[in-house]
Amino acid sequence: MRFQYCPKCGTKAIMKVIGDEGEMPYCPQCEAPLWDLFPVSIICTVLNEYGEVALLRQDYVSKTNYVCVAGFVKAGETAEDAVTREVFEEIGQTVVKLDYVRSYYYEKKDMMMLGFLARVKKTEFITSGEVDSVEWFLLSEALEKLRVGGIAWQLVAEIGNRVAGALVDHSAGAFALEDYHKITYRNTDGTNPDFVQLSNFLETYLNQVVGGAEKRQAYKSLNALDGIHEVLLAYEGEHAVGCACLKPHSENAVMLKRVFVRPEYRGHHISRELLTCLEVRARELGYQQILLQTRAECTVAVKLYESLGYERVPNFPPYEGMSEALCYRKKL
Ligand SMILES: [Zn+2]
Repeated sequence: MRFQYCPKCGTKAIMKVIGDEGEMPYCPQCEAPLWDLFPVSIICTVLNEYGEVALLRQDYVSKTNYVCVAGFVKAGETAEDAVTREVFEEIGQTVVKLDYVRSYYYEKKDMMMLGFLARVKKTEFITSGEVDSVEWFLLSEALEKLRVGGIAWQLVAEIGNRVAGALVDHSAGAFALEDYHKITYRNTDGTNPDFVQLSNFLETYLNQVVGGAEKRQAYKSLNALDGIHEVLLAYEGEHAVGCACLKPHSENAVMLKRVFVRPEYRGHHISRELLTCLEVRARELGYQQILLQTRAECTVAVKLYESLGYERVPNFPPYEGMSEALCYRKKL
């Protein structure tokens, strides 16, 4: 907001050149520049020890989209105070750890928004009158509930991305879900020995599922690991328990490949987390769609892909003519 009158004395502002700022409103009475005014607010992703994010609905904002906890910073309090206060006021959760993520300028409302990750220990929601409903969603599902490209969406995507990049950038380690889970995620490439080993397990597993290696002969060369630069591994301590990777397919499309979680670690949403993080990465790399190929026998995998919004499409190269291959696509 640009001042036309001095907010202190009510004198009509004049325009005056102020140093590097150039021409700006000035009160000749107070002899003071009248800096543009914009409110400062906080927005935060509330994350619990199970990797779930609290999203709420406020009918006065939108009847269909979920939003993150957000609110104005009051005079005299810090942005951190405001986060702790708003999280408690709006949904009755107590913040146990707070990390600043980044800021956003919300043009539509001419407002500065400071984005935080607020960790809480899951307790029952107690909502304020401003909140119509609130629910926990897995971090990987939360993105789907938010308006694409909106500030809440950008913040949740950024946090999902930092969780994935936790090992590559140690400074981002504070974002790893390891505080709560024993599972951590690391970025690497196709030459990583843990990846090669998990990939071999996957081969054995797939051969069993389809009833013999000879039924997968045609796929052998298609599953080679060279040329793979985007690999995400899941670890329990130093023990690699799951993998997934991206392989370039065409200019606009990337393929999701080698999705595998050791059988004893299934049922903990590890593959879902791997996929969601790689989707964020694919989007970041500028791809517009993500492709994958599976088989009808892989029923659990098919169910997972479909639940994440992948749609069955006619077989794309190099799977044309392979009737047992099922091809899926998701637009990013
Ligand atoms: Zn004045």
